[in-house]
Amino acid sequence: MSEKPGGVIAIYPGSFDPFTNGHLDLIERSTHLFDKLVVAVLHNEGKKSLFSVAERKQMIERSLRDRDHIEVDSFDGLLVDYASAKGAIAILRGIRAISDYEYELQMALMNRRLQPEIETVFLMASEAYSFISSRMVKEVASLGGRINGLVPPAVEQKLREKFQGV
Ligand code: ADP
Repeated sequence: MSEKPGGVIAIYPGSFDPFTNGHLDLIERSTHLFDKLVVAVLHNEGKKSLFSVAERKQMIERSLRDRDHIEVDSFDGLLVDYASAKGAIAILRGIRAISDYEYELQMALMNRRLQPEIETVFLMASEAYSFISSRMVKEVASLGGRINGLVPPAVEQKLREKFQGV
């Protein structure tokens, strides 16, 4: 087997609206597997989001300070085309529960059909974070509930600004 010159690069794509401690945990556990990870925010015109792509990228960058093997980027169009352009050989995704599985499987199989050389790698969510989703965090924050411990401090701050204006 030949070594990849730039090391093994993986893409972690997602909406990250917003980035949570579940996402962060997955990234931390993946660092042992890849030489470089590109966290890629999906720019999807069709999906209504709370935060702009620029805001989402900035929150991720602030939450991932001092990790020089991680790049934060955004993309639109086909994920496999973006992954190829980045020289990636893997797509990283997380699975929290059976309910994630069906959608993730469909997407992984479609991506394999489109680009067989790129493999999707799944990591199971940590027990401590498996109940966290961006959707739930937004819902709780919008109702004034406590979100500390669910998201990194930079995200907590932005959610407070968004919903409470402070
Ligand atoms: P998408 O809209 O692409 O699903 P998300 O930002 O919701 O974007 O999630 C990106 C990836 O991170 C998905 O594979 C999702 O299953 C995974 N993920 C989300 N929350 C968690 C969590 N708490 N623990 C582990 N993985 C997670």
